[in-house]
Amino acid sequence: MNILIMGPPGAGKGTQASRIASFCGIPHISTGDMFRAEIKQASELGKKIKSYLDTGKLVPDEVTVEVIRKSLQQADTQKGFLLDGFPRTIPQAEALDGILKEMGRSLDLVINIKVDPQVLLERMTGRRVCQKCGATYHVVNQPPRIEGVCDLCGGELYQRSDDTVETVSNRLDVYQKQTAPLLEYYQQRGIVAEVNGEQSIDDVFKEIEQVIRRIAR
Ligand code: ADP
Ligand code: AMP
Repeated sequence: MNILIMGPPGAGKGTQASRIASFCGIPHISTGDMFRAEIKQASELGKKIKSYLDTGKLVPDEVTVEVIRKSLQQADTQKGFLLDGFPRTIPQAEALDGILKEMGRSLDLVINIKVDPQVLLERMTGRRVCQKCGATYHVVNQPPRIEGVCDLCGGELYQRSDDTVETVSNRLDVYQKQTAPLLEYYQQRGIVAEVNGEQSIDDVFKEIEQVIRRIAR
C-alpha cells in the first residue's frame, strides 16, 4: 500500500509512521529525517539546507523533490511505501504525482492526523530524539525509561534545534499557509482519512490500523 501521513508539525506523524511501517512491512520515508542526517554528516546538501531547518522554513522544492525521487527509486517499495513530511507544497504534490506515474504507481491513502495548535506547541517543545537511531520521545507524554537515554539502542537523546518556542510558531505558520491546502488536493481524490491525534499514542495507532485494514480489503 502507498501511504502518505499528513498533519501539522508535532501531530505525531513520525511516532505513528514507525508503527505503520512495521505493521505494513513498508519503508518509512521521511524528508525531515533525511535532511537531519545530511546535516549531521555535514554533506554538501547538509550545508545548503541547514539554515532552512534551523529557522523552520521549507527547503526549496527543487532540492526536496530530487531527494525524494532518489529515495523512492532506492527504497524497497515492492510492497509500498509510507511518506512522512513530503509533499509539503502543491508543486511538491504535483512533482510526486509525476514521479509515481513514471513508476506506474499512485497514492492509495492519505492519513491526516488532527491536533489542536496549543497541544502541538507542548508536544514539540517536549520532544526528544535519539541521536543514534532517531527514535522519538516526549519528556512528559512518552518519557524514556532512563532520562536522556534511548530505550531501544542506548543512544543519547537530544532536543531538535527547531523545537524551540520561536521556531515552532514559525513552522505552524508555514504549515497553515503552504501545507494545509494539500488536504483539499487529496480530498478531491477521495483518499483522505481523518484521524483524531489527541488520544494516547496506542489509541491513535488503533484508529489508523482500522483505516488501513478497511482500505486493504
Ligand atoms: P511529527 O512527526 O508529526 O512532527 P512526532 O511523532 O515527532 O510528530 O511527535 C511529536 C511529539 O509528540 C513527540 O515528542 C512524541 O513523543 C509526542 N507524541 C506523539 N504522539 C502523541 C500522542 N498521541 N499523545 C501525546 N504525545 C504524543
Ligand atoms: P520534519 O522533520 O518533517 O518536522 O521537518 C523538519 C524540517 O525539514 C522542516 O521544518 C523543513 O525545514 C524541512 N523539510 C522537511 N520536509 C520538507 C519538505 N517536504 N519540503 C521542504 N522542507 C522540508
